[in-house]
Amino acid sequence: MPTISQKIFSRASGSARMAEPGEIVEAGIDYAMSHDGTSVLAIKAFLEMGSDKVWDPDRVVIPFDHIVPANNEIAATLQKEVRTWIRNHGITNFFDCGSGVCHQVFPEQGFALPGNLVVGADSHSCTYGAFGAFGTGVGATDMAEIYSRGRLWFKVPETIAIKIVGTLKPFISAKDIALMVIGKHGSDGATYKAVEYIGPVIEDMSISGRMTLCNLGVEMGAKASIVPPDEKTDAWLRGRARQAYQPVRSDPDSYDYEFEYDVTDLEPQVAVPFRVDTVKPVSELEGLEIDQVFIGTCTNGRLEDLEVAARILKGRQVKVRTLIIPASREVLLEALQKGIIETLVQAGAMIAPPGCGPCLGAHMGVLGEGEVCLSTSNRNFPGRMGRAGRVYLASPATAAFGAIKGYLARPEKLAADTT
Ligand code: SF4
Repeated sequence: MPTISQKIFSRASGSARMAEPGEIVEAGIDYAMSHDGTSVLAIKAFLEMGSDKVWDPDRVVIPFDHIVPANNEIAATLQKEVRTWIRNHGITNFFDCGSGVCHQVFPEQGFALPGNLVVGADSHSCTYGAFGAFGTGVGATDMAEIYSRGRLWFKVPETIAIKIVGTLKPFISAKDIALMVIGKHGSDGATYKAVEYIGPVIEDMSISGRMTLCNLGVEMGAKASIVPPDEKTDAWLRGRARQAYQPVRSDPDSYDYEFEYDVTDLEPQVAVPFRVDTVKPVSELEGLEIDQVFIGTCTNGRLEDLEVAARILKGRQVKVRTLIIPASREVLLEALQKGIIETLVQAGAMIAPPGCGPCLGAHMGVLGEGEVCLSTSNRNFPGRMGRAGRVYLASPATAAFGAIKGYLARPEKLAADTT
């Protein structure tokens, strides 16, 4: 009774029999991603290994997103060197500054496909599981090996099924579910496991919500987080998929562990500094003063996220500096066409070009000493968004309500005021 992960590793390793959890396999990679930051390191390792040829220039995907536009001469020069390597090796799938966050661009461009093994030199590559792929992050040296041979060894993971049932209250979203699950399981609760999200709430969830859910899998140590592919997946991928794909689903009773959560009474969730698994309901934090709100990133910078923010901010003014960064150019264009950007700007929010923004603490909205940011991103470790800032992680709705209040507030309390 194999799981999605077992089926994917069996196919990718070319094995005639089913791969078993715990088994070490060498598997072929369908598509590999590295961004501006990790490409620098992977290229260095690639050269040190004595490699001079990329295994398949059409299967390496390089979006520039981490420090875009470059914030100083060092970053600009490193990016220039990566561009030169890309050109010299004929990499066809290069997405320069302004295209968007790697984990948004990669699926939008049709590289995250059901049944595929896709690997990124970035820990949040687990996002690709939203499409029924086995998506996982690797280090720069492993990526150099993939650039060179297109193959890597893996231990086939056990699978934890997390079934989500119930009915979500207004303004409760995938982010709240993900934070709740991480709070219950802890930052090491799924170490080297595949987490499969199943159940009626997941089936009803948009692709955008599934990406948010899978994106956060690594925050509990998961090797991959996966949503079984369905007709929504196919519809989203229509016109995007780079190649034909073969979806796979887990057989009944194939999971190694199973948990079930009813989210009917779930309140908005917030992860407080400095751990993603220190999660509290917003009601316990009400009144906490905020210096900055940040809505964006690979976790929550999609159209659906900007739409909910615009719905809450429409006709109001933000009370604290509010930075909104669309996850990709495609998201930005759609938000422009729908008047969402206009609404956000009229409310006093700043819009920055698609990319990671201040998420990794590099630039474009980092915090001053002791400042508090209510952020839709995925990490709140010390120094993450500036050396001595404090990052509280929440959903786009909670962040938008925080922006108009200037402090943490329960979205449902304000729902009646909101059109
Ligand atoms: Fe990493 Fe943040 Fe960029 Fe996502 S948005 S890839 S978490 S730096």
